Amino acid sequence: MGQHAVARPSRRGPRRSLEAAIVLLLATASLVLGVASQETSTPSGPAGGATAAPAPAPVAVDPAAFPPGGCVWLAPTGAGPAATVALDAGHGGPDPGSEGTADGAVRREKDLTLAVARAAAERLRARGTTVVLTRSTDDLGTPLARGAVQDGALTTDASQLDLLGRVRCANLARADALVSVHFNSFADPEVGGTETLYEPERTFARENRALAQSLQTAIRARLTAGGHTPLDRGIADDSSGAESGGGHLVLLGPRIPGYIDEPSAMPGALVEPLFLTHPDDLAAVAEPGGTDALGEAVATGVTEFLDGAQRR
Ligand SMILES: [Zn+2]
Repeated sequence: MGQHAVARPSRRGPRRSLEAAIVLLLATASLVLGVASQETSTPSGPAGGATAAPAPAPVAVDPAAFPPGGCVWLAPTGAGPAATVALDAGHGGPDPGSEGTADGAVRREKDLTLAVARAAAERLRARGTTVVLTRSTDDLGTPLARGAVQDGALTTDASQLDLLGRVRCANLARADALVSVHFNSFADPEVGGTETLYEPERTFARENRALAQSLQTAIRARLTAGGHTPLDRGIADDSSGAESGGGHLVLLGPRIPGYIDEPSAMPGALVEPLFLTHPDDLAAVAEPGGTDALGEAVATGVTEFLDGAQRR
């Protein structure tokens, strides 16, 4: 389960070679985005879409409230039904999330979630959808207060503020749907599979469930088409995870005074497509085109949900 994204984080992952990783990932993010290094001569990134025309540059939703690269609009690049989708790449900056090792290389959750979110964004934009990214670089999308990082790790309080900032971003953008991208991990490397979490009690719980099912189905279909056979763990109540302590995910949960003062205002789901601690699962995302395929699946899942919502 994603202990990182839950209401009551119970533990934090170890920190290794963090500074080197940040430098590398910042460089990667700059290439992918073309934000921090627009003079860079490499126009195509791992998002992988054959992008001929230059895409419109990201626009800050509220530059006073978010640091550069945090909470940005990405305008549509193609025609289609008007909709806005908030894509939340889990973790970032001093919070790497979980990790796994494939072919001798460490794969960090925060890197993979950003790649998946960006790939999903490009496909959604091509379908006429406006995308909001809660973070578009390696950095967290919300400002970090003094003391937010202690012993190289994001404190629990800072993590909570970060999650609330992601919710505020989606709300400010008036997104029609919120999709948070994470990857799972577990101590036992034999535990793996695809899971999507949703909140089952809010006033729009039916939509939450429909979105989660649509995402789960699309991700399963895309992985199967790619020759992968992860276990289907299905969709699940966002408080069902052992490490959530029975609480709701901050991103999806209802108002809890003093804790979640501003809950997310739109249907949402949190995808955990694979376990980074399961060798076959990790191989599916670490292979060339792995994050792109998952991004495509996320785009398909949320599009089918929005199409269904229009018909209802
Ligand atoms: Zn996570």
